[in-house]
Amino acid sequence: MADKNESGSESESQEETVVGNLQKFAVTPPGYTGKPKKGHLVFNAYFESGNLGRVDYISDIEYDLFIRPDTYSPRFRVWFYFTVENVKADQRVVFNIVNFSKTKSLYRDGMSPVVMSTSRPKWVRIPAKQVYYYRCPDHRKNYVLSVTFMFDKEDDVYHFAYCYPYDYTRLQNYLDAVERKNYNFFKRELLCLTVQERRVDILTITHPRNVPKNDQEKKKVIFITARIHPGETPSSFVCQGVIDFLVSSHPIAKSLREHLIFRIVPMLNPDGVYLGNYRCSLMGFDLNRHWQEPSPWAQPALYATKNLLMSYDQDNNIDLDFYIDIHAHSTLMSGFMYGNTYDDVSRCERQAIFPKLLCQNAEDFSIQNTNFNRDAMKAGTGRRTLGGILDENSYCYTLEVSFYSYTPANSSTLQPIPYTEDAYQKLGRNVVRTFIDYYKSTGYIPTKPSSGLTPSDELNSRSLTSKNR
Ligand SMILES: [Zn+2]
Repeated sequence: MADKNESGSESESQEETVVGNLQKFAVTPPGYTGKPKKGHLVFNAYFESGNLGRVDYISDIEYDLFIRPDTYSPRFRVWFYFTVENVKADQRVVFNIVNFSKTKSLYRDGMSPVVMSTSRPKWVRIPAKQVYYYRCPDHRKNYVLSVTFMFDKEDDVYHFAYCYPYDYTRLQNYLDAVERKNYNFFKRELLCLTVQERRVDILTITHPRNVPKNDQEKKKVIFITARIHPGETPSSFVCQGVIDFLVSSHPIAKSLREHLIFRIVPMLNPDGVYLGNYRCSLMGFDLNRHWQEPSPWAQPALYATKNLLMSYDQDNNIDLDFYIDIHAHSTLMSGFMYGNTYDDVSRCERQAIFPKLLCQNAEDFSIQNTNFNRDAMKAGTGRRTLGGILDENSYCYTLEVSFYSYTPANSSTLQPIPYTEDAYQKLGRNVVRTFIDYYKSTGYIPTKPSSGLTPSDELNSRSLTSKNR
């Protein structure tokens, strides 16, 4: 949604000045000429997924920072990612990020940006007590995020971001590494190229005998996509957790590969990710509002993904059981799902099973936040569009995970636990575990004593026949 400031001429004229990323930009006091001295901070966002459009000097310790709006879509200004160098030891600063396009934010609830530096290359959240999020009279009553920070090592380059970065190159390196293991159950293919000719990868994870042949029995397909919204980096960590577990030697993974075909598109919007956008593609499209009629040239990843899903839907040898699109949520806590509502009551009930099972496996998954709707605002989303056209036995969900934290279901304290990179990946692993629970509950996957599953599950195995093996 556009906020009110965007209609004001003052706001527009300010935004016009924020068009590209800062490139090694030294901020010096007004009137200062000559080479920047130590302590004159140098800001840079001229790198993959970088985003910082402008910095204003306020005082020696205070700086106003402007997010660079999404390409061709200035109303989205949320993701930021930049570096600071040329610092002095023990230099204290206040950074005010002054042009957020969203007012509701988890920053109100204790979320804080992440930081790392050359000598401490692991991203951590800045302590919440150093972060303030408030409506600021100095900035046309915009919400402003103020962060106090002390640089401690002169030679370090400090990196700051909205949330843990996960860029296109990282995904490519990760997929290269999995590919090098030469698993016979893992295949990586090119689904299409983006407008800027980046790879949109599609993975197939299944036992080699499951590759569909025309005369075979029906195969079940689970289709997972992530990162249609480029700023939603937790989506990639969850997706990597899914892939890591599915290619592992864990008995659950082996059993799932034997019985199911997983197809995964881990990054639907590589251009947006590369450019450091929050919501949109290179051309300014919020791709998750264009599933109804994707353009082959402007939205090639959507076009190809939808075509593939539709071909599965029409293939008599394939049951497309699940379509799950992974996102991150900027205002709600925990992991949760969005599903569709249908007039058919039994279809609604069947659709509610997977989230309930996931809730049993993942302490960070909230059934309270899980919601089934037909909100008109979400009509062009993958979940809504595909839910309306796929076979009634296909379940379509959006899996959301908070940018910030979760409250464990069974904990005595209500203290939120901030997500780490690993906690996001763990949610992905728990999604995979839930497929085995689901298919055991339907009787499609047998329970073998050797599979390491719980004894109660063996009850379900009695309904099995050998034809599924
Ligand atoms: Zn999203």
